[in-house]
Amino acid sequence: MTNITVIGAGTMGNGIAHVFAQKGYKVSLVDISAASLEKALATIAKNLDRMVKKERITEDDKATTLSNITTFTKLEEGAKHADLVVEAATENVDLKMKIFKNMDELAPKDAILATNTSSISITKIAAVTSRPEQVIGMHFMNPVPVMKLVEVIRGYATSDAVTETIMEMSRKLGKVPTEVNDYPGFIANRILMPMINEAILSLYEGVAGVEEIDTVMKLGMAHPMGPLQLADFIGLDVCLSILRVMQDGFGNPKYAPCPLLVNMVTAGKLGRKSGEGFYDYSHGGKEWILAASFKK
Ligand code: NAD
Repeated sequence: MTNITVIGAGTMGNGIAHVFAQKGYKVSLVDISAASLEKALATIAKNLDRMVKKERITEDDKATTLSNITTFTKLEEGAKHADLVVEAATENVDLKMKIFKNMDELAPKDAILATNTSSISITKIAAVTSRPEQVIGMHFMNPVPVMKLVEVIRGYATSDAVTETIMEMSRKLGKVPTEVNDYPGFIANRILMPMINEAILSLYEGVAGVEEIDTVMKLGMAHPMGPLQLADFIGLDVCLSILRVMQDGFGNPKYAPCPLLVNMVTAGKLGRKSGEGFYDYSHGGKEWILAASFKK
C-alpha cells in the first residue's frame, strides 16, 4: 500500500495525514473546506517543528513528511489512486453514508474503505457500498501523533484479510491496534462514556464538585485527566451524541445522558472548543480555571 486518502482535515484528519506521511505513505488529504486544509497543513508543520526541537526527527524528515501530503477539495481527484481511504469527516451518519457511497464509485475496486467514526455503525456505513467486506473502522485517538491506540472495528461483513491488513498497517504506523466487533460505542467509548456520564451525574446530584470528582479519578485511579476535564477536551456535544447512539443502539436506559450534560450542550457550553464547559478556557493557551457556574 502506498497511496492513502484521508477525508476530512479537521482535528483527527490532520493527525491521521501526519502519521501516514511521516511513515512515507503518499497522502491525499481531502476536505470540502479550503480553510480546513490550510489550517491542517499549518498544524502538521507546527507539530513537526515541535518534534524537530525535541530532536526526535530532523529538518529533512519534516520536509519529506510535508512533501508526502497533497491537498484536494474534490473527492473525485483525491480518491482515484487510493489503496486505502480513511474517512475522518464530521460525525454525522447521513454525511458518512453519502461519502461512502461516493467513495465506492470513485476509489479503485480493491481499495479498503476505513472510517475513523467514534460511534456510527461500521456495518451500516458498509451497507451503502458494493464492497462491505472491504469496509472497516480505524479509530485513532486524539491527538493522533501521540496516542498509541488504534481501535480496529470489524463490521458484520469485514473480511479477515482486510482486518489483518489494517492491523498490520497500524503497527507500521507505530501504533498498537486492538480488534473489536461492531456494536454501539465499540470498546473505547462503551467504557469511557458511561464513566464520564456517571461523573456528570455525581456533579448533578451534588455528591461532589468538579475539582473533587476529577481529583478522585486522577489521584485515586491514576488517570492522567479527570473525567470532567476529559469530557471538555473531547467536546460535550460529542459525548452527548455518543451516549445517544449507545442508548438507541442497546435500548438500555443505563446509557441515558445526564440532564446536566444535555443542558450544557443546549446552552452552547461544549468544553474546550467553545471556551467553556466544566472549566473555563477563555484565558487562552493551556490555562483553565473552574467555570463560574461550577464554583461553590
Ligand atoms: P472536525 O469537525 O474537527 O473535522 C471534520 C472535518 O470534516 C472538517 O474540516 C470539515 O470541513 C470536513 N468535512 C465535512 N464534510 C466533508 C465532506 N463531505 N468531505 C470532506 N470533508 C468534509 O471533526 P474531528 O473531531 O476531526 O472528527 C472527525 C471524525 O473523527 C468523526 O467521525 C469523529 O467522531 C472521529 N473522532 C474524533 C475524535 C476527537 O477527539 N475529536 C476522536 C476519535 C474519533
